[in-house]
Order: sequence, then structure tokens, then C-alpha cells
Amino acid sequence: MITLFFAAICLTLPIALNAQGAIANALPLLGDSSDMSASAERRLGDRIASELYRDPDFIDDPVLTDYVQGIWQPLLASARARGDLTPELDERFAWRIILGRDRSVNAFALPGGYFGLHLGLLAVVSSRDELASVLGHELSHVTQRHISRLISKSNQQTPWMIGAMVLGALAANKSPDAGNALIVGGQALSVQGQLNFSRDMEREADRIGFGLMTQAGFEAQGFVSMFDKLQQAARLNDSGAYPYLRSHPLTTERIADMQSRLPLGAPQAAAASPGMTHAMLTARARVLSNPGVDALRGWLAQADDAGLAKSRAAAQQAGSLYGAAMAAMQLRDAAQARKQWARLQNLVADDPEALRQLRWLGLEIELAAGDRSRPQAQALAAGLGLEAGKPAMATVLRRPDLMLQARMALQGGQAQALDQAAQDLQGWLLGQPQDAMAWQWLASVYAAKKQDLRALRAEAEARVAQLDYAGALDRLKAAQDRPRAAGAVNASADHIDASIIDTRRRQIEALLKEQAQEPS
Ligand SMILES: [Zn+2]
Repeated sequence: MITLFFAAICLTLPIALNAQGAIANALPLLGDSSDMSASAERRLGDRIASELYRDPDFIDDPVLTDYVQGIWQPLLASARARGDLTPELDERFAWRIILGRDRSVNAFALPGGYFGLHLGLLAVVSSRDELASVLGHELSHVTQRHISRLISKSNQQTPWMIGAMVLGALAANKSPDAGNALIVGGQALSVQGQLNFSRDMEREADRIGFGLMTQAGFEAQGFVSMFDKLQQAARLNDSGAYPYLRSHPLTTERIADMQSRLPLGAPQAAAASPGMTHAMLTARARVLSNPGVDALRGWLAQADDAGLAKSRAAAQQAGSLYGAAMAAMQLRDAAQARKQWARLQNLVADDPEALRQLRWLGLEIELAAGDRSRPQAQALAAGLGLEAGKPAMATVLRRPDLMLQARMALQGGQAQALDQAAQDLQGWLLGQPQDAMAWQWLASVYAAKKQDLRALRAEAEARVAQLDYAGALDRLKAAQDRPRAAGAVNASADHIDASIIDTRRRQIEALLKEQAQEPS
């Protein structure tokens, strides 16, 4: 549904509920044999993704990313187990979600196994199950090769043109006003018309997405309540804020189809009660997607309302207090942030995951205040298993742990803490070599340890992870140009680093050459 392409298509807003027939006619039948190859689709996806990573609205917030991955990985595992995701496609495609700061409610599948997810969508889902239903649907568009069929259909377009079109459609979605201007050109419009998913594709993505989310352990009800939510938004004609609806028109047929999949006797569209953690992370998504001062002050006013405790469920209160503490931190008001955080602490004590979220936020607040020596920061770090000097991997570190540990080590500047941070980041990167932010933190830690060659190489790897090969090459060249200190204590370590850098430079140059030879 939500491929970018589509978003720009339905000019006849609000919500193209009636555009279905025309779009379906323009599409190939399912199973058309002239599909784009997986590697060609991946190359196109890489091109688009490399632009998205450079977009100022791209955001990698470790806490929200951790939450999304906690839903995404079980969906992928379920797709593998069910055979929807073949080993070949698993290997060839990226399967990466790219978060955007945008407030609009949108999620979309891109070529090559990349997915876009706006914070605006995270801010409106009421449960993990609802988010799983959207992601499962998008995932299924890709495993079923719907995108390759659409692209093959428009084979008069070069990959470069398709990439440009997708990016244009994405940009248009950010601002409804800009979108109208962009779409006026007749040719772009007709091409995008061919790039819309057909009704059959939507139905297939619903069916397969539903199967994988339930097999992954999510509540089936999430699928239906998400539909209800979108339907309500559609009634309000709020199409500017819900680009998802333009690309995923809701038909009564789709809704009836999903409701028929619910087990008999299941409550229809009962409002799912948001879990504590979900409510806190929804608040986080709202704060990060709407960073204006007035909005941030609004969080504080809401939390200080005397009616807060009486009128709302504990999870909702936790969301309000989390948002208020976070907003105060963004406003650089450490005292207020600590005050709201302390109120939140009273609510979450019995919920281990919410407690972890509380500690992450508390440590962020202390680090933002630049106050590492406060006993509070030390206690929080200890609660997370991050004390300096503790044997590495004594606890299972999650991504936000690693980022906070690195920030703490850099603020404190103690050798032992920096060594620990470097070691833990290296261990993480063995399993997650595509984690640009982890490479970037590792580069900062190396720089603080005065290991310049390693720092430059880590910076280069951060560029590679975001598909910026030219940027990576610049850093590798800078590392090679660096004069070696003769007779330095770590000369042999430098020698090993230098040979790694030489090898990486040759590999990156080969990648750049390959890219230059692709048809544009
Ligand atoms: Zn869809």
C-alpha cells in the first residue's frame, strides 16, 4: 500500500476511496512473469535509501529504534518460518526500516527491502499489535514481490527516473502544499498511476500480513483496530496528516475481509488498553516529531494538571509524565525534567520493561544536564548493568544501553570507561555491521582514546552503512594520508589498522566503480 509511489498518486484527495477501479485496471495480473530481478530491485532501493539517510528528517533515535525492532524482528522471523520470505530474498534484500521525524501518519515499502516509518504513525498507534499490523502488511508487499511487478510494468523508465519519482513522491507527502505543486506535471502523474498497488495486491498483503503478525504472537485485534483508526481519520478528511490513507485506500471490502479473519467471539474493535511501555514510547515519538517550544511547554502544562492522576489510567499517566520529562529535557530544564521523571518513577516500578525505559530516560536527562558525577547517573547506569569496570557482556546490552554507555564514557573521559565502551560497541558491530550510529559512537570513543586511524576507519564504516561510499572513501584516504608516528608505542597496532584501511579502500572503490556502471 504505502509505497511512496502511491502517495503522490491520488491527487483527488481527500482519500481516493473511489480510485480503486481505475488503478486496478492499469496493473498487471498477479504472477506476471517479467518481474524485475531481486538484485536490480536492491540496487534501486540502495539508491533511494542513500538519499533518505541524507534527508534532514531522517532520525535514528536508539530508544524508538529498539522498540520498532522488537516488533519488526519477530515479523521477519515469522515470514521466514512460514516460507513467505525465501532464503534468496532474505539474503539479497536489506530488510531495514528507516525512521522519519515527520508528524504525518505514514509507513511505506520501498524497493529492495527498505521501509519507511514516520514518527507520526508511531504517535497514533494504540498498541504494539497495531504497529505490527501495519509493518506486517508492508513487509508482505515486499516478500510477495509486488514492487518488482510495479516497476517492471513501467519498464520504459530507467531506475534513475523511478528513484527520482519515488523521492519526489516522498517529499510531496511531507507537506501537502508542496505535494500539489510537484504533481502538476502530467507525465509524472501517469507514471505514478502505474506504480500503485492493485486491489489484489492490497488484499494479498492484508492476508499474508495478518498471518505473519498472528503467528509472531501479536493480537489479531490489532489489525482490525488499526483499520478502524484509519477509517475514523478518513471520515475526518484529514488526508494531509494521513498520507498512508492516500496510498492505502480503505474499502469496505478490505475491512469486512479483515473482520472475517477474527476468531468468532472476539470483541469487535474494543479499544486496546495501551501498555505502559507503549504509552511512554508513543509520547517519545510525539515529542521528537513536534519539537517546537509551544508543543514542549504543552507537555509540561498537561502533566501539572491536577486532574491527571484522577482521570486517566496508569499507562496514560505514564505517557504524559514521560512526555513531560522528555519535553523538559529538550527545553534544557534539568530541574523540571528530574521532577517529572521522579513522578514517573512511582508509576512504573512493577513493570520491568517500563522500568528499563525509565532508567534510559533518566540517564539521558542526567547526560543532557552534563552532570555525570551525580550519584543519580551512577545509580541509573548500575541499574542498567553499565558500571565501568564490569566484565563486558555480563549483562545483555541493548542498543540504547550501548549508546548511553558511550556518551557517559565520553563525558567522563576515563580510560577504563572508554575501553569498556569501545569493546562493547565492537562486539555489537560484529553482529550488526550496518549500524551507522554505533560506528559513529565508536569513532568518537577512538578519537577520545587518540586512536586516529581507527577513528577514521569507523567513520568510514558509518558512511558505508548509510550507503555513502564517496564519503567513506574520503575518510579512508584521510587515514592513509595521516603521517605515522615513527617508533610509536603502538606502531604494530597502527600497521594492522593501516592494512585494514587499504583493504577497505580497494573494496569501496570497487563498489563505486560498479555503481558508476549502472544504467542511469
Ligand atoms: Zn498496501
